[in-house]
Amino acid sequence: MKIHEYQAKELFKDFAIPVPEGMVAYTKEDTVEIAEKIGYPCVIKAQVHAGGRGKAGGVKLARNRDEALGFAEEIIGMHIKNLQTGAQGKKVRKVLVEKGVNIVNELYLAIIMDREKAMPVVIASSEGGMEIEKVAEEHPDHIFKEYIHPITGLSNFHSIILSFKLGLNKTEQRLFSELVSNLYKLFMEKDASIVEINPLVITDTEELIALDAKVNFDDNALVKHSDIMELRDTDEEDPFEVEASKYKLNYIKLDGNIGCMVNGAGLAMATMDILKYYKGDPANFLDVGGGTSEERIKEAFKILIADKNVKVVFINIFGGIVRTDIVAIGVVNAAKSMNINIPVVILLRGTNEKQGRKIIEESGLNFIAETDFKKAALKSVELSRGDKDVNSCK
Ligand code: ADP
Ligand code: MG
Repeated sequence: MKIHEYQAKELFKDFAIPVPEGMVAYTKEDTVEIAEKIGYPCVIKAQVHAGGRGKAGGVKLARNRDEALGFAEEIIGMHIKNLQTGAQGKKVRKVLVEKGVNIVNELYLAIIMDREKAMPVVIASSEGGMEIEKVAEEHPDHIFKEYIHPITGLSNFHSIILSFKLGLNKTEQRLFSELVSNLYKLFMEKDASIVEINPLVITDTEELIALDAKVNFDDNALVKHSDIMELRDTDEEDPFEVEASKYKLNYIKLDGNIGCMVNGAGLAMATMDILKYYKGDPANFLDVGGGTSEERIKEAFKILIADKNVKVVFINIFGGIVRTDIVAIGVVNAAKSMNINIPVVILLRGTNEKQGRKIIEESGLNFIAETDFKKAALKSVELSRGDKDVNSCK
């Protein structure tokens, strides 16, 4: 789960990580009121779940009331569009108004979970404020890493090694060690998957301040953190994904036109692979899960149909724990309660498959029932393209 910069900075405050004084605003009037309170220069920053806001015109320095008002008008309501937001971009609904800081040096600091080594890694660079991917490509020698064994935890020497490599002086070293230690605490206690400060700045008064803040959390650990759950902003998420999460469906929206309903993550991936192999394009990843209920099948079906890109639905169910006749009832009920004007290809195999197929046949619905994975995939691709010649997909 992602949160906004202003929320991440509140969390930073709880862990004694220094951030500039600031407050969130939803309107231009509130922006000006906060700016007047904080004083000038102040920075007005678009709050969306994406980075690269500065380059997209979503971060502006205001030197007086008129500029604060002008930038608030400009930023609230704008769309931030870059690689992180996808083609549609993200609409700005709120801004963070914060004190302007006199920057002497910009650093980069992050803690992420290294999956290969199965331990957290602290990453630091002297090239802060830029895209870290670019630094990694062009100057890999400017990026420093310290792996932290989760059992022994972070020690002072980790931070000292990093601060030497960054070329920090004595005062900066002390501040840096303290900050890394607090950031590590946050990372572990809140089950974050990434905490990133880019830039972490040294000011003209020799302070170390987090000017940007990004924190993502491990979704599987959110049950332990109701305070973090409250920070969720569904405005920033795909509406289909929000709807699917209400029914605990594992759904991820994609750009294609074949709506897929599959049980089990492995089969869902195999289904997407075979569709791609036949030059089709899945509209989504959807794993309805094992032991699924009729109601969840119905909701999943509704979500697939609601996606206007979907030209055909491919239902691929292997009945292990889940009974295919239950799936069939769910699909038939959902289809009957909706106005479906796109073809549906259905492949039911495994537990109670005969009963399942019978339910589909007797439903009076015009479903295309297949008994073979390859044929069902080819049929779906063909229908998604409006082709008549199935062999043309090979
Ligand atoms: P993003 O990474 O999305 O572009 P940042 O929060 O990193 O957004 O802001 C972009 C740049 O704006 C920073 O690298 C920094 O140079 C400048 N900036 C951000 N906040 C402040 C601030 N409070 N005072 C001065 N400059 C700032
Ligand atoms: Mg940044």
